[in-house]
Amino acid sequence: MVERTQVLVVGAGLSGLSASMFLARDGVDVLTVERHAGTSVHSRASGQNWRTMELFHWAGIDDDVLTASPRASQGLRITVATSLAGQVFHRLMEDGSEFDVSATTTLPHGMAGQEVVEPIMLAAAEKAGARVRFRTELTELVQDNDGVTATLRHRDSGEETVVRADYVVAADGGRSGIRQLLGIPTEGLDGLSHCLGVVFDADLGDRVKAGVTDLFYLQNPEFTAGLSNTDVAGRYVFAPDYRPERGESPDDFGHDRLVAMIRTATDLPELDPKIVWTGSWEIAARIAERFRSGRVFLAGDAAKVTPPSGGQGGNTAVGDGADIAWKLAAVLRGDAGEALLDTYEAERKPIARMIVDMSLHNLKQRMHPDLDVSGLTKAEDPLSAVLGFRYRSTAVLTEEPDDGSRVEDVHMPTGRPGFRAPGMASTVDLLGHSWVLLCAGDASRWSSAADVDCHVIEGEEFAAKYGLSAGGASLVRPDGIVAWRAKEPVEDPAAEVKRVLDAVLSR
Ligand SMILES: Cc1cc2nc3c(=O)[nH]c(=O)nc-3n(C[C@H](O)[C@H](O)[C@H](O)COP(=O)(O)OP(=O)(O)OC[C@H]3O[C@@H](n4cnc5c(N)ncnc54)[C@H](O)[C@@H]3O)c2cc1C
Repeated sequence: MVERTQVLVVGAGLSGLSASMFLARDGVDVLTVERHAGTSVHSRASGQNWRTMELFHWAGIDDDVLTASPRASQGLRITVATSLAGQVFHRLMEDGSEFDVSATTTLPHGMAGQEVVEPIMLAAAEKAGARVRFRTELTELVQDNDGVTATLRHRDSGEETVVRADYVVAADGGRSGIRQLLGIPTEGLDGLSHCLGVVFDADLGDRVKAGVTDLFYLQNPEFTAGLSNTDVAGRYVFAPDYRPERGESPDDFGHDRLVAMIRTATDLPELDPKIVWTGSWEIAARIAERFRSGRVFLAGDAAKVTPPSGGQGGNTAVGDGADIAWKLAAVLRGDAGEALLDTYEAERKPIARMIVDMSLHNLKQRMHPDLDVSGLTKAEDPLSAVLGFRYRSTAVLTEEPDDGSRVEDVHMPTGRPGFRAPGMASTVDLLGHSWVLLCAGDASRWSSAADVDCHVIEGEEFAAKYGLSAGGASLVRPDGIVAWRAKEPVEDPAAEVKRVLDAVLSR
């Protein structure tokens, strides 16, 4: 028997769960399969930037994520040093208060680890109707003009099931078997470093600042490593590099050696850390040449792998999942033409490029001074990359003259098409679900427009941030991106909105 679903999501990490959660919320029949027995046990990518929290707010899980992570509102300190009490080379961030993004969002950032966030996303996806199956892996995938046929295998029973889906989201991680099956090459740098991940429990006293996320990049004569606290009191992650080019492998780092390294890293020679988990990880900077092959879309690490310096791997995974979800939902509902799906790569690949380049610049500054970054695009201000990014695609009507910028200053949002609609107390809850028209002043004429909810936002602050005169309006997509705006009132609003929607939805 062949099982039927509209969208098959392969992988229940951050990108797969994001796609599942938003697809199910939008009424799409979604089946998600994950080869592991459950969600991540390791904190891995900790931290939700403001854009992720905006998406989580629209999914109704932002409060749960904040509550689950006591460190969230307390701040972030980033230090480059020899050891926790040793020589400090740079203090990159003191407490996070350097980040004033109040001009463009009212939401806080989060600091929760993946082991905390993924179960919250899973619960939201299942509550919205997604079917999620663990211990189930995709083993084969064949596509034709009408759909995709996938073979799934249960890892305990060995039982095989055939699933027929309209589309597949390949959220199957950095080594994506689906990407390889589709023959999509990646370009970039492998093996920038090889890392161990060591989760340990110990009393580090005041070596690590209580309450805040305290992240150390350690350049010690004996090793280079990351060290950070976690959401669990007394639990830390130590991530030393190992060097395959010197013949090293994770197996060389037995318990006693790791304990000795942790003692050196913490300047606590008597420390008795209890090691609770170890794993290994290769740091790479790779982007898939294509994010789409027919009816299959690569998301998260399957589409790009970025160094962790900058904390964007997990955040962009969530962003990819949310982006492909609203577009697939629109096409499956019949609201949009198939060509809307091409905007997924057009919009998300430049973000991947920007994030990967930014993370490589950070990696050079924090851990690898010899890294050659000369061929990379210049590092954008991290706040602009996260909240001031710009999409260019057929799903946006770019205004002329176009200054060609990739980002804008988050302290002065402009409301131009392609950028995030500035999040204000008066707008944030209107966005993130469907197409909306936000009108400055008089909405009576705009309310005749079909297919969109029309809201009047009073006040000069709104008009200034969205760049509208009285009687003007902004058309905002379901992902909170401005698709088009009429700065001034127009002659026939209903006809104008229809013309714009037909264009940006490829219909
Ligand atoms: C040890 C480690 C530490 C990390 N630390 C950081 C960090 O500090 N900061 C940061 O930004 N990022 C970090 N990352 C990267 C970050 O975790 C990823 O960017 C993020 O998890 C990407 O999410 P994803 O859903 O795309 O992929 P993943 O989280 O890798 O999820 C992919 C999922 O697909 C499943 N899967 C694969 N193939 C199949 C199949 N055929 N059938 C069914 N399921 C399949 C896998 O089991 C996996 O659960 C770390 C990664 C690792 C491994």
